[in-house]
Amino acid sequence: MKKVILAAALLASTAGMAQRFEENRSKFEQLGTLLPTPNTYRTASGAPGHDYWQQRADYDMQIELNDEKQQITGTETITYFNNSPDELGYLWLQLEQNIFDKNSTANLTKTSAMEEKVSMYQLGFMTLEQFDGGYKIKYVKDKAGNALKYTVNGTMMRIDLPHALKSKGSFSFSIAWSYNIHDHNKLAGAPGNGRMGYEYFAKDNNYLYEIAQFFPRMAVYDDVYGWQHKQFLGNGEFTLPFGNYKASITVPADHILGATGVLQNPNEVLTATQISRLQKAKTAKTPVVIVTQEEAEANEKDKSTTKKTWKFAAQNVRDFAFATSRKFIWDAMQITQDGKPVMCMSYYPKEGNPLWGKYSTQAVAHTIRTYSKRTVSYPYPVAISVHGPVGGMEYPMICFNGGRPEADGTYSEQTKYGLISVIIHEVGHNFFPMIINSDERQWTWMDEGLNTFCQYLSEQEWQREYPSRRGEAYKIVPYMSMEQNKLEPIMTNSEQVSQLGNNAYAKPSTALNILRETILGRDLFDYAFKQYATRWAFKSPQPADFFRTMEDASGVDLDWFWRGWFYGTEPVDIALEDVKAFNADTQNPEKENPISKAQANEQKTISQIRNEKDIQKTLVDENPELKDFYNSYDRYAVTPQSKSRYEQYQASLSDEEKKLLASGENFYSLKLKNNGGLVMPVILKLDFEDGTNEIVRIPAEIWRMNNKEVSKVIHTSKKVVQFTLDPFQETADIDTDNNAFPSKAAPTRFQLFKQQNRRPANPMQEAQQTQGGQPSNR
Ligand SMILES: [Zn+2]
Repeated sequence: MKKVILAAALLASTAGMAQRFEENRSKFEQLGTLLPTPNTYRTASGAPGHDYWQQRADYDMQIELNDEKQQITGTETITYFNNSPDELGYLWLQLEQNIFDKNSTANLTKTSAMEEKVSMYQLGFMTLEQFDGGYKIKYVKDKAGNALKYTVNGTMMRIDLPHALKSKGSFSFSIAWSYNIHDHNKLAGAPGNGRMGYEYFAKDNNYLYEIAQFFPRMAVYDDVYGWQHKQFLGNGEFTLPFGNYKASITVPADHILGATGVLQNPNEVLTATQISRLQKAKTAKTPVVIVTQEEAEANEKDKSTTKKTWKFAAQNVRDFAFATSRKFIWDAMQITQDGKPVMCMSYYPKEGNPLWGKYSTQAVAHTIRTYSKRTVSYPYPVAISVHGPVGGMEYPMICFNGGRPEADGTYSEQTKYGLISVIIHEVGHNFFPMIINSDERQWTWMDEGLNTFCQYLSEQEWQREYPSRRGEAYKIVPYMSMEQNKLEPIMTNSEQVSQLGNNAYAKPSTALNILRETILGRDLFDYAFKQYATRWAFKSPQPADFFRTMEDASGVDLDWFWRGWFYGTEPVDIALEDVKAFNADTQNPEKENPISKAQANEQKTISQIRNEKDIQKTLVDENPELKDFYNSYDRYAVTPQSKSRYEQYQASLSDEEKKLLASGENFYSLKLKNNGGLVMPVILKLDFEDGTNEIVRIPAEIWRMNNKEVSKVIHTSKKVVQFTLDPFQETADIDTDNNAFPSKAAPTRFQLFKQQNRRPANPMQEAQQTQGGQPSNR
């Protein structure tokens, strides 16, 4: 009977142990099958394998803009190179403009509810039905002019090949297409709207076009997914193969046009003055205006009926976009990046000034310089920032950015830094994903997260204490503090993320900053990050390639970090539950006995205190004959016996042990609890009695045997008066109230809130009002 009970108890405790082991191990377990098995295309080190391949698509396009009807028509010849080892029976293309078809999956599946109060944003997408959006495909033909069979499936199109396209073969075909450009401000809430469209300026009756994702483009065929056939739903941007582009774009003769690539026919489209100003920009230290504001304002009134064709060429890019308007002011400044010239340029209407003229091109140049340093040298000859209706969207060599001052020319601090930040961000996208060509339709974080991280670093190099919106660990705390069921891991497909900004931009960029500052240190991190960029420049990395390269090049096992930050949703909340102080007992009666005596008499109880007063005389006081040895015995007295015991003890110690005993070291036993779940290093600040302090950094592996609770002994020669966890706010700890021992009450200042009815003036306006100056009119 006894035996059986014993065995059952043993079994239960083994199961308990196994469960505890599982729970603990899971945080530090290798990613294993969460990552794909390495192969000859993608290696276990995170580098492209020796059989790595990718497809290529070259484009030759003739495009015409109809400024009367806001339409665009084009013909394109695509030459598709099959570098895969596979034979292809059909080709898939992206037809992104079909997202604006009222029957697109994006529109049919966008959830909505009609309420009494409807915002323009909501109304925008509800009224999409009145807009005749999407492609009108005129033909698809092969090189000889024979019609090719094609099938449109939402935002994709399949072309059936007459003969299978063999490995290493190529196939040329042409498509003629047209579509209506949408009014960006009217379709505010429509999925996909945020990336392109036109803006109408009623005051001068002019249009400004930002044209992108505008031509049928080859979908990606790769070793991971085969054909990438995720429909364009609006959030997942795109992924495309690299290739060479030629584009001729016909627009009204008084338009100024900027595009991906290098202008091939400046003499046909620019004036002699503009050409000579561009020449000056090649050696200028500050931006040179190619089209001035006065010239742009004159253009606004022109309304030319003749046309001009701008010709561009771009090598080794994965897309092509352009912007055109007769409203454009244009400035340029050439920089030299690693020995190569890069013409940094901006195109903006007068509504963007004075901000755009002052900051845009400088921000473009700053981005090229700072990103080149950390990733790969910027490989293209041009980098452009355009101001129009689009808040922020990137394409190779060109991006569209928002940020507009008030009508009086003043602006808030937020507008200023918002503008500089969005330009750094969108120009930064040249690196992620335009060069390091990750699949945005699957993983928003791979371009947005990495780019937002680099953006943060560049902002800090723009000016000291630049008010960066994202990057610092403490800024992710509100998101990480949310209820678990409202959060998705970073490793979630772009279309299933509920808070794209927090999940795909802020959290991964914060995680990388923590990896750089707290886990790896700047040297190891920067080397590994540059290694990733170099390995995958002009190639298409997957998440595993990033995770593996960062470990491979830093020499640090980071599986626990990817698991916690990228595959999990738990927050960081480490608590310093308790600290116990210990001193070494020297066992020397001459030293220890007085200490013990003092401790014993230190604090009297309330009864002892009152009894001293209330009991005048005790029985023994009145009857001294009741006293014996113990009434006068001093337990703390040093006796010859206790001294000799101490001498024997000393004789038994080694020299080192004697030294430690004599040092008077303070030992502190810290009890740490992991309340949040996400394991992180333990960073401790010890404030000493004498006013100095020390930082102790313990790697996250302290949690590897027990990720819920650990204790750690710290010893110091000085007495610690205060312990503080995460003193530099570097771990994104969501609850700092449990980070100090003894605990500290943080003072909070409160403000009596009074409703403000009027929107306050921005500080620039206020300054002008107090100076009595008239706001400048534009
Ligand atoms: Zn972005």
